[in-house]
Amino acid sequence: MGFTSFNFDAKITAGIRALGYSKPTPIQLQAMAPVLQGRDVLGLAQTGTGKTAAFALPILQRLLTGPRGVTRALVLAPTRELAEQIHDAFQGLGRQTGLRSLTVYGGVGPGPQISGLRGGCEIVVACPGRLLDHMQHGAFKPSRLEALVIDEADRMFDMGFLPDIRRILKNLPAHRQTLLFSATMPDDIRKLAHEILRDPVTVQVDHTVPLATVSHALYPVAEHLKSALLTKLLAQAGGTVLIFARTKHRAKRLAQRLHDQGLDATSLQGNLSQNRRKAALEGFRDGKFSIMVATDIASRGIDISQITHVINFDVPDTTDAYTHRIGRTGRAAKTGDAFTFVTHEDEAMVRDIERALGAKIERRKLEGFDYSARQPAAPARTAHHAHPEPGKKPAGGFHGRFSRFRFRRRHR
Ligand code: AMP
Repeated sequence: MGFTSFNFDAKITAGIRALGYSKPTPIQLQAMAPVLQGRDVLGLAQTGTGKTAAFALPILQRLLTGPRGVTRALVLAPTRELAEQIHDAFQGLGRQTGLRSLTVYGGVGPGPQISGLRGGCEIVVACPGRLLDHMQHGAFKPSRLEALVIDEADRMFDMGFLPDIRRILKNLPAHRQTLLFSATMPDDIRKLAHEILRDPVTVQVDHTVPLATVSHALYPVAEHLKSALLTKLLAQAGGTVLIFARTKHRAKRLAQRLHDQGLDATSLQGNLSQNRRKAALEGFRDGKFSIMVATDIASRGIDISQITHVINFDVPDTTDAYTHRIGRTGRAAKTGDAFTFVTHEDEAMVRDIERALGAKIERRKLEGFDYSARQPAAPARTAHHAHPEPGKKPAGGFHGRFSRFRFRRRHR
């Protein structure tokens, strides 16, 4: 079934053509008809499945008729990057419609957003915190709102946005169409969906199994050899590579180390200013950087179709995070490789990931890599450190290891 069966207006069909979509993706096939009918929809789909167009196209169709110059559709998204991508999709698909879309998020001055909101955009794509500010100051007026989309609801919940979302919901017109998309369905999201969706149609594409276009491999390796293995793997991989590290600090340090090795690497992590995040993302998209090292939160919704490899330098904390990371490659039916470095400590997580995938992931060894290289000796300790106070356990013993482990977990 093609796009023609949905009878979109010619102005919207022109947008579909301009973006080069020849046939709808499975989530579009399932979701577009009920959204066009004005039904509420609960969509279980991860980013990368084409879910943005699944709601954007029917919303554009709806907005073609009716008043202009007032906000009639609101999309809530967890990160600025995702908000920008959704906004780009509305602009690309709606290029001939004359409908206007605006992004609203924190980390940048509120002035242009306030003028944009006052100027009367029909579509607002927002992160919850800043939208709430604008709502409280009267710049965002939702009284004419007809459609609300809550995108990546599970991630918004993870990021602590649920109270803000509830506050926003209280101020929206009760009579509206609501669409809620989530890659997973934790209890709190199920509860929210139950409260706010009226007689919803549920649509679902494989949400626990990462895209079939991605091939997975594990690289067992000792922690101290990860950097050397990465260097060697990158030399072979080529292409556009997104690397995930556990913490902001690790992401920054790793990108710096790769940069020092002469590689065009950048990092995307929460410590960057909005301008630097934007520059990193744009540089990665335009090919100025072929390597980006990111943390999970910073990478939400990155939609760069040319990513050929995702490398998990550190194993993710949850199977869902694995799915989301892997979803950054193999997008829109292109193929991609997902490599994960695993140490002994990661075995339990690997078992969970394999259970979620329903398959064992291939273990690989990199030819010619010296897996037996020893950890460089630690710098000599001062007399003070070498001899702990009487009665204290030596730092390398059980207590020392245990407290280091706790320290790392707490600072993730
Ligand atoms: P999304 O899941 O919305 O982030 O979309 C993932 C990618 O798929 C984006 O780059 C979209 O532009 C692309 N896409 C969405 N729908 C289609 C389609 N029907 N045909 C080809 N590409 C698509």
